[in-house]
Amino acid sequence: MIASAEDAVAAVEAAVRERRRFAVTSGGHCLENFVSDAEVRVILDVSPMKRIDYDAARRAIVVEAGATVGDVFRALFERWGTVVPLGEYPAIGMGGHVVGGAFGFLCRQLGLAADYLHAVEVVTVDADGHAATVVATRDPADPNHDLWWAHTGGGGGNFGVVLRYWFRASGALGDNPRRLLPPAPESVTTFRAEWSWADIGRSAFRRLLANHGVWCERNSGADSPNASLWTLLELHREQFGKIVVRGVSTASAAAERQANEHLAALADGLPAPQGRELARLPWLEFALNPFPDLFAGPPGGVSVKVKDALLKRRFTDRQMETAYDHLTRRDTDVMGGMLGLATYGGRINTVAADATASPQRAAILDIACTTGWLDPADEAKNLAWVRALYRDLFADTGGVPVPADAYDGALINHPDSDLADPSLNTSGVPWPVLYYQGNYARLQRTKARWDPRNVFRHALSIRG
Ligand SMILES: Cc1cc2nc3c(=O)[nH]c(=O)nc-3n(C[C@H](O)[C@H](O)[C@H](O)COP(=O)(O)OP(=O)(O)OC[C@H]3O[C@@H](n4cnc5c(N)ncnc54)[C@H](O)[C@@H]3O)c2cc1C
Repeated sequence: MIASAEDAVAAVEAAVRERRRFAVTSGGHCLENFVSDAEVRVILDVSPMKRIDYDAARRAIVVEAGATVGDVFRALFERWGTVVPLGEYPAIGMGGHVVGGAFGFLCRQLGLAADYLHAVEVVTVDADGHAATVVATRDPADPNHDLWWAHTGGGGGNFGVVLRYWFRASGALGDNPRRLLPPAPESVTTFRAEWSWADIGRSAFRRLLANHGVWCERNSGADSPNASLWTLLELHREQFGKIVVRGVSTASAAAERQANEHLAALADGLPAPQGRELARLPWLEFALNPFPDLFAGPPGGVSVKVKDALLKRRFTDRQMETAYDHLTRRDTDVMGGMLGLATYGGRINTVAADATASPQRAAILDIACTTGWLDPADEAKNLAWVRALYRDLFADTGGVPVPADAYDGALINHPDSDLADPSLNTSGVPWPVLYYQGNYARLQRTKARWDPRNVFRHALSIRG
C-alpha cells in the first residue's frame, strides 16, 4: 500500500532493483488485465492516498490519485460548489482515470476531465533505475511540460506513478477556489423509456437508429442548446426483450421539454416508447449513484468485454443492417450482449486534437459493443459474439474504426487488446494510431524521456 510520495519512491526503486515487474493501481477499474497480468509481481496500490484540498500556491484543487470519482464529485460540490466533468461511475479511481482523458455525463457541456488538468505529480524512473517525484504543469515554459501533456490522455500505466493531480479551468483568474472550476449543476433531470423488441422489426430498428443518428448529427455542436443533454441508447439483444434509452440533462426548467423532444425525435415514425420515467434530483445525489440499474452488478461481479469506437457521423445503412443481424442472432445465446450509443461531442470538440494527448475531438457518438457473463464457461461464446459484431460494423476499414472521415478511433480509457491482434485488426493501421492518432510520436518521445527503461508497461502501453 502506498500512503505517501516517499512510499511510492521506495517501492518503485525496490521493484526496479529486484527486477520485478510491477503495476500501479488506484481504483481497480481497468477494462483490460493491465494490473492483473500474470507477469506482474508487485502491485503498487495508491488507494490510501485520498486527500482533496485547495492548494493556494498553485491556485488549483489538488486531488490525490487514490481518491475515487465519487470522492471528488462530493468534495468539489460540498466545499466549493464546483465540478470537473469526470466519468460516469463513482468508484473509478482518479489515478488511472484522468490520465486517459476521461469523459462523462457532463462532457458535451464541459469537455473532458483532462481539459481541466493544471498539473500532475508523478514518480518516474531514470535510466539508472532511480525513482524521484516530478511535478509537470500546463505552463508551456515548464521544462516538464511534455509530461503534463502526456497525462491529458496518454493512458494509465505508461510514464510513472501518478500521486496527485491539480485541477483548474484554463484561463481561470483569481484565487477564489469557487471560481477556478465550472459551477456544479444545481440539479439534474434524468429520464428513461423503452421499446419492446416485440414492436421493433428490421425496418423499425433501422428507423430508430437513423432517427438517433440524425439527432446526434444536428445536436452535437458546442453551441447547441442540447449540449446540456447526454443520452445512451441501449440496443440490447432481442433475447433480452427491450431497447432502452436514458439520459441526463442539466437544462433545469427546460430539461423536461428537452427530454420529451429527444424521445419524440427518436420515435418519429415508430411506436412511442413505453414506461417513460422522469425525475429531478440534486446533482450530488445523481453523481454518487447514477442510473442504479445501469451499473448494478450481481454479488461477486460479472466479467465484461467492452469494444469502444468513436463515430464522426451516424451509422450507414449497411451498419444498421449489421447491428440488427447481430442483435437478433438466434444461433447463439448471449443474453448480456448490447450495442450502446452514447452522445459525445459538444465542448469536447472545441479543443485542438494536439492540445492535449486526447486527439478524438470530432466525434458525435461514442459507441460500445459490450457483453457480460457470470459463468466462465460462457466466456468463449460472449467474446465470439461481441468480436463479430464489432468486426462486421467496421468491416469496410479492416474491422476497426480507423480515424478518417467517418471514425475518430477509440478511447484509451476503454482499452481493448483486440485492436493489437492482427487477426481482429486487419486494417493495417497499428493500434496506437487508433488511440492516439497524430499524437503518438510525441507520446513516444515523452515515454523515452521519462521512462527510458520501460518499467511502466502493459499490453497497450506506449512504446518509447
Ligand atoms: C464500470 C466502469 C465505468 C467506467 N466509466 C468510465 C467513464 O464514464 N469515463 C471514462 O473515461 N472511463 C470510464 N471507465 C474506464 C476508467 O476510467 C478506466 O478504466 C481507468 O483507467 C480506471 O482507473 P482505476 O484507477 O480505477 O483503475 P486501475 O485498474 O487501478 O488502473 C487502470 C490503469 O491505470 C493505471 N493506473 C492506475 N493508477 C495509476 C496511478 N496512480 N499512476 C499511474 N497509472 C495508474 C493502471 O496501472 C492501469 O494501467 C469505466 C470503467 C468501468 C469499469
